[in-house]
Amino acid sequence: MRCRAATSRPPAWADRVISPRRSDYRSGYVGYHLLCRQPSLPWVHRPIELRPRKREDRYVRAERALSGPLAAVCADIRARIGAVKVIDDPTELGTYACDGLAHYRVQPGLAVLAENAADVQAAVQACVAAEVPFVARGSGTGLSGGALPRADGVLIVMAKMRAIKGMYPDDTCAVVEPGVINLAVTKEATPHGLHYAPDPSSQQICSIGGNVAENSGGAHCLKYGFTTNHVLGCEVVTPAGERVQIGGRAAEYPGYDLLGAFVGSEGTLGVATEVTVRLTPNPEVVRTLLAGFDSTDEAGAAVSAIIGSGVVPAAIEMMDALSIEAAEVAVGCGYPAGAGAVLLVEIDGPRAEVDHTFAEVQRHCTEAGAFEIRIAATDEERTLLWKGRKSAFAAVGRISPNYIIQDGVVPRTALPKVLHAMGELADKAGVRVANVFHAGDGNLHPLVLFDARNDGEAERAEKVSGAILDLCIDHGGSITGEHGVGVDKAKNMPRMFSADDLDTMQRLRCAFDPQGLANPGKVFPTPRMCGEVPRVHSADETAPEGAEVF
Ligand SMILES: Cc1cc2nc3c(=O)[nH]c(=O)nc-3n(C[C@H](O)[C@H](O)[C@H](O)COP(=O)(O)OP(=O)(O)OC[C@H]3O[C@@H](n4cnc5c(N)ncnc54)[C@H](O)[C@@H]3O)c2cc1C
Repeated sequence: MRCRAATSRPPAWADRVISPRRSDYRSGYVGYHLLCRQPSLPWVHRPIELRPRKREDRYVRAERALSGPLAAVCADIRARIGAVKVIDDPTELGTYACDGLAHYRVQPGLAVLAENAADVQAAVQACVAAEVPFVARGSGTGLSGGALPRADGVLIVMAKMRAIKGMYPDDTCAVVEPGVINLAVTKEATPHGLHYAPDPSSQQICSIGGNVAENSGGAHCLKYGFTTNHVLGCEVVTPAGERVQIGGRAAEYPGYDLLGAFVGSEGTLGVATEVTVRLTPNPEVVRTLLAGFDSTDEAGAAVSAIIGSGVVPAAIEMMDALSIEAAEVAVGCGYPAGAGAVLLVEIDGPRAEVDHTFAEVQRHCTEAGAFEIRIAATDEERTLLWKGRKSAFAAVGRISPNYIIQDGVVPRTALPKVLHAMGELADKAGVRVANVFHAGDGNLHPLVLFDARNDGEAERAEKVSGAILDLCIDHGGSITGEHGVGVDKAKNMPRMFSADDLDTMQRLRCAFDPQGLANPGKVFPTPRMCGEVPRVHSADETAPEGAEVF
């Protein structure tokens, strides 16, 4: 359906916009394609807010946006890399106003569509010369607002840097540009019997550069480790505008582990322009089972028994009744009827070992109370078992018009307690919480469901979401497992770290970025930079200056 709405605000059903798309020029209208959820039509692309393009409107706004240092930076970058790669049209810039955490929106002052490392370097150097902040953006799927632009800054978009520059099967590594999509690396490596192990659920769309910046994880990271375990080297444009190589194709380099510091730094220590990733040999055998339980307690007991027995599954994922219901409605995954929880367990490795371990896993599930165990006999059946889990986040849109995706970690043994406490929090607040998570490493992804049309429900959901993080901390866990801190959780950092801890981290940041230009306002509760006086950070600090909160 195409509509021409006069209003400049998205309609109510679009309040949680997941992915803005480029404007539709063919029709002569401009607007954004928004990936929206609606109870009846989840995850559909809908062009909204279409209106005739007004050139004069566009230029007046552009001029206003580009006064001061930004105008100088725009001219400088255009002179260095060509005008066509630099976007200053406010309408087009709107495309980049948010990442996957769409309720924070800031239109960037300027966007650079970098095609190579030299473009990135030119953009950073121009920013440094004019003391203008810059933010790197991969595919914009981040869920913590890490790629939220600055209205007074430059967004450096890596989506055109998608070359796989080299496959080195004998060295089990590949050299790729940062905009390369995660799954593309595995596709390219498959003929060599290799794959790229970190597999975020967003792997069909997220970029390697974004994965590096967020130290992304995925279902199979329990056995294979997070992104940091699979990055051998990075070429980086530093916040001073230099191009440097950290690490390389060898497994180890002497000296300080700067690569370790860079991975997971959320774009605050520079922009990766090339990444050398480790490739992992495909296992001889993969076996997958789905076990249905009456409750999350029973499923949790099975997880503890499996891990406690020394088995390290490739993946061990849990879904509770609500997320099973959502997946059923969305993709008809046919999980065991009436299950209060399901466990999806995957074992891989040499055949003899897998056969033995798989039998152990089945035994632990049965002993913990599994009332049904399904074993995938073929690749197709395996894909079918995974279908419900992989679609779970999106599927929740089928049973709730709005939801917040939370990300926290607890020690595995605390899972049952924390799941109960979350249920109580939700009941008290009158909202629902669906759980789908990496059970093996205690990485929770509670989905707090609410209906923004009901008075006060959004606020209550937000409170429950915050209280869940408190629960994680109180049980010795962490405020994020894999989605990063970004803008969203900067305010929670003082709950986990002392002022001294935060100042020590800031010192590292300042060593890379003394001017504080690389992705300022992210990760830390204040953009305190070198030379500023330390102070006690407060948990009340919220959205960055200039961000519109929807
Ligand atoms: C449906 C869905 C499921 C998801 N599932 C998972 C999951 O299972 N596991 C998981 O870990 N995450 C998951 N995510 C979150 C997200 O996909 C990851 O954080 C991903 O790594 C972000 O990649 P991106 O290319 O979209 O980065 P962006 O969102 O564009 O940017 C993320 C951060 O990286 C920085 N950055 C981007 N490129 C560079 C670069 N070249 N150099 C330096 N900094 C850079 C940005 O400044 C920003 O701080 C999911 C997201 C969605 C929408």
